[in-house]
Amino acid sequence: MTYYISAFYHFTRLENLENIKSDLENKAEELNVRGLLVLGNEGINTTCSSPSKENLELFKQWISSYFKAPKIAFKDSECDRPPFRRYKVKIRDEIVTAGLPDVMPPEGKNHHLSPTEWNKVLKEENDYVMIDTRNWYEYNIGTFKGALNPNIEKFTDFPEYIEKQGIKKDKKMLIFCTGGIRCEKGILELQKQGYDEVYQLEGGILNYLAEYPNDQYDGECFVFDHRVSVDQKLGASTRYTLCPHCGQPADTEIECKRCDFHEKICVTCTQEEIKQDTCSKNCAHQWRLHPGRKGARQLLPFELENLSEKFGDQAEVKEIRVTRTKVTRLNPKGQAETVIDPIKK
Ligand SMILES: [Zn+2]
Ligand SMILES: [Zn+2]
Repeated sequence: MTYYISAFYHFTRLENLENIKSDLENKAEELNVRGLLVLGNEGINTTCSSPSKENLELFKQWISSYFKAPKIAFKDSECDRPPFRRYKVKIRDEIVTAGLPDVMPPEGKNHHLSPTEWNKVLKEENDYVMIDTRNWYEYNIGTFKGALNPNIEKFTDFPEYIEKQGIKKDKKMLIFCTGGIRCEKGILELQKQGYDEVYQLEGGILNYLAEYPNDQYDGECFVFDHRVSVDQKLGASTRYTLCPHCGQPADTEIECKRCDFHEKICVTCTQEEIKQDTCSKNCAHQWRLHPGRKGARQLLPFELENLSEKFGDQAEVKEIRVTRTKVTRLNPKGQAETVIDPIKK
């Protein structure tokens, strides 16, 4: 099954956020759209998806007219598993965390480079500084060739990082992020610090990869949903999952010593003994308490949900009971059948 995904943002002054929130939720429910939307007095920032391409288009059209924003840049992709489980609207002071809630990007262009213009600079010029404005773990799984890694934990540390670099004010600077929104605010900070020759990648890495896969960008691009990251062709990552111990992108396969389950963990956690030996926080905890003792794997919330859907669909199954470690179903005779850890990845 194909799921159609769109990521976009729009800066605009908004009031009565609770009303807007319920309008969004009603529309999403009507069109069976799922996703996460951050709503604030400065606008909206979202990634959403639907199994129906038509419905997602209708939702995008509705957003454009509702917010009177005909020029929103929608960054579209597809994947074969649902990237979101529900539709959620979160009200925040900032629609992208920059620590600058009162700073509103101007309408129209502010030193934006299209993917084509960006590519031209990267290939034909060499007197510039290119900075990845994302967090260190995003940088680690993929970035532009030659980009600097500020090694920051959160974007609010970015202004200080720039100040410390002591880059000349007339130097040509290039900044980029996932979908472009972080740079809309980041560029204002750089301009405030006196940099004038600073340019931002329009629509971010997602927009660039849509036009130039396997060119100046190396690796995958971290995204904020169940796909973890997208590859050069914007397909859902087949390489990374989220590390069960710490939540970073993970691609090192291990076999859990407690429950024998195969899982991927991140590079950092492969350096810690208990974590490199276990598939989950629960198994790590149990292994610490009882070294060497085998046990069953704890099912994850989404697996419980998938199971309910899977068995719930079967007409002959009357009832399904799910606990943290096992799934029991009632057969037509009313007898309980236990299925232990029936999901193998
Ligand atoms: Zn980890
Ligand atoms: Zn385990």
